[in-house]
Amino acid sequence: MAKKTKKIAVYPGSFDPPTDGHLNIIERGAKLFDEVVVAIAVNSSKKPLLTIQERLKTLKVLLKKHRNVRLDFFENKLLVHYAREKKATAILRGLRTVQDYEYEFQMALANKQLAPEIETVFMMTDSGLSHLSSSLVKEILSLGGSGKNLVPPLVEKIVHQKFKK
Ligand code: ADP
Repeated sequence: MAKKTKKIAVYPGSFDPPTDGHLNIIERGAKLFDEVVVAIAVNSSKKPLLTIQERLKTLKVLLKKHRNVRLDFFENKLLVHYAREKKATAILRGLRTVQDYEYEFQMALANKQLAPEIETVFMMTDSGLSHLSSSLVKEILSLGGSGKNLVPPLVEKIVHQKFKK
């Protein structure tokens, strides 16, 4: 019998910081794929709040309970080239709003043209998470608001520390 190939998905994002919305997509994705590679996309033109090391360290703790979730980052390369390197057949993305749809639609079509063998798989946000974004979290936490139902306590602590500096 032919050996079954592992179904690997790459879940790319800035994760600056990781939110409950990201974790929800990862948890659900891990049930659909044999392996999910959570890949921090390093964008040198953006000024992030958390360094790449801080995001890696935080996500490592948050994801350690998932046996089929790996953590990585990539820089200066196309997402589809990175996905090929990881032997992924899917790019996992989350959808919240119509704005997300417009952006994601364009990216998915461009990626399909560049790498027809890789499918973009969209997961609809879960109820209660559609408003949740890293930018919203940064805004709330920068003004001293609570991170409850937005981010795990570990993320809240790190982000609060950053804003205190
Ligand atoms: P990017 O800079 O690539 O948009 P993000 O970290 O903002 O990176 O998001 C990574 C992915 O996670 C995107 O597909 C985004 O739509 C999805 N995502 C973020 N927050 C949520 C949420 N609350 N519900 C569903 N998907 C989400």
